[in-house]
Amino acid sequence: MKFIEFASVCEKIEGTTSNLEMTKIVAQFLKNADDLEIVTRFIIGSVFPAWSPEELGVGPSLLYNAVSMSTGVKEAQVKDMVRNLGDTGLTCEKLCEKRVQRTLLPTELTTMQVYKNFEAIARTTGKGSQKKKAKMLADLFGSAKPKEARYIARLVLEELRIGVGEGIVRDAIALAFDVPKNEVERAYMLTNDLGMVAATAKKGVKELKKLDITPGRPVKMMLAQVAKSMESAIDEMKEAAIEWKYDGARVQIHKVNDDVTLFSRRLENVTKSLPDVTDVIRDVVVYKQVILEGEAIAIGEDGRPRPFQDILKRFRRKYDIGQMVKEIPLHLTLFDALYVNGKSLIHKPLSERRRVLEKSLKKKEDPKINVTPQTVTNDVKVVEGIYKEALSAGHEGVMLKNPKSAYTPGKRGKNWLKVKPMAETLDLVVTGGMWGEGRRANFIGSYLLACRDPATGDLLSIGRVGTGMTDEQLAELTGLFKDLIVSEKGKDIELKPEIVFEVGYEEIQKSPNYDSGFALRFPRLISIREDKSVEDADSIERVQELYKMQ
Ligand code: AMP
Repeated sequence: MKFIEFASVCEKIEGTTSNLEMTKIVAQFLKNADDLEIVTRFIIGSVFPAWSPEELGVGPSLLYNAVSMSTGVKEAQVKDMVRNLGDTGLTCEKLCEKRVQRTLLPTELTTMQVYKNFEAIARTTGKGSQKKKAKMLADLFGSAKPKEARYIARLVLEELRIGVGEGIVRDAIALAFDVPKNEVERAYMLTNDLGMVAATAKKGVKELKKLDITPGRPVKMMLAQVAKSMESAIDEMKEAAIEWKYDGARVQIHKVNDDVTLFSRRLENVTKSLPDVTDVIRDVVVYKQVILEGEAIAIGEDGRPRPFQDILKRFRRKYDIGQMVKEIPLHLTLFDALYVNGKSLIHKPLSERRRVLEKSLKKKEDPKINVTPQTVTNDVKVVEGIYKEALSAGHEGVMLKNPKSAYTPGKRGKNWLKVKPMAETLDLVVTGGMWGEGRRANFIGSYLLACRDPATGDLLSIGRVGTGMTDEQLAELTGLFKDLIVSEKGKDIELKPEIVFEVGYEEIQKSPNYDSGFALRFPRLISIREDKSVEDADSIERVQELYKMQ
């Protein structure tokens, strides 16, 4: 497929506001597309499947450098234009209009060529790689028509800005290939790759139904709801399986013989950062092929869990990993089994999955790994006892799980309920910011927060957080957000919605000033939830619920 066709469809969608209309355009496009896996990912602004360890490694400055190389316009000027136009894509388009297209590639750009170029850029690592990446990208711009440049730039930043999210693409796949929406959804939850789902749906519903859990590909994780109370939870479940809710980070473990792959809650491949965990899995897990889930925890010298940020340091570490393993040793507590020796277990009840899990370790006692202790009970007093134990050990609370329930990928349902002390916080998406003033002029001084509207996929603003932070914290945060700046107007900054803040507050108030209709009184940043993605952030319903509970 010619890349210009992809660019034209994006442009058409950009001029559309109705979700239904967008779905129809995307469906028509997918129906006629070859390179289906690639263009399906492209249309939601991603180059590689979410689970793939490959990443482009190109931030805005490298992109500006490449455009400057390709068009001869100075980098500072490119930056100024981005500031004025509020969009890198449009800037690249405008700049390419002014230069003569150098057709380095023999024919018109195809989606496959663009993808292959991206792949080569992603695979360029090590010393001098930044320069090489910029040169490769400059060559790509050199061969692109202005409109193509707009979408190449946006793809590089993985922000297509055409308003097409996963939901629209899922509906479009169903429409294009005449397959049921729920089958598309199911296949996506199990494979995490819309490209693959689209290509399979094209072969028909029979093939789509065959898509299943595959060791090596992450499954969207089952999530927990907040329990109204222990009593109501027990009432509803009759009998509940109670486990501590550990203060750690979730891991999904895929083992095929000696090959072990680890995924974080955001389904990032974190295998390389956690060699101690892969080693222990290889040593003590008896099954040849298995997918397990558990919580990685770090216990300090005082016997209590270390701060969550310490665990994240382990997950994110890319160099000197050996040193980090020594500094922050991890312990893994396993609470679920999703697949064993060729068979998916997700439709089996928890009690049955638990039996498989209990047989998974060679030895019961190991300082690095265990199966999470579990008590099945219908007695609220017993639950309270376990809750107190968990809290006094420094963990978060308890999980009450329905022993009869299946594992529902990606769903936050009633079958897993969490109980933790009140003082609820909100997990909110950072969508914007504002440069500080005076001494703080080089820092982003406050951040705009938003909750999700699951019905439309929109992010609804709910307030700003900023006061009460030290200069040091502000500098650190500015560093973190620098590469996410999408556009700037005066002091206002639009940020790519990627980072989730856990925010404490004193009260939720009604407010006409924000899209959500609510504002937070005295909001304060508690932590950066690096284990959560935008889809995991709290919804407007959750805000309404908390508002009512006040
Ligand atoms: P939350 O992040 O507050 O939505 O709570 C759900 C998270 O609790 C899961 O994603 C796990 O990382 C964590 N967790 C801790 N202990 C358990 C457990 N026993 N079972 C399931 N999840 C647990």
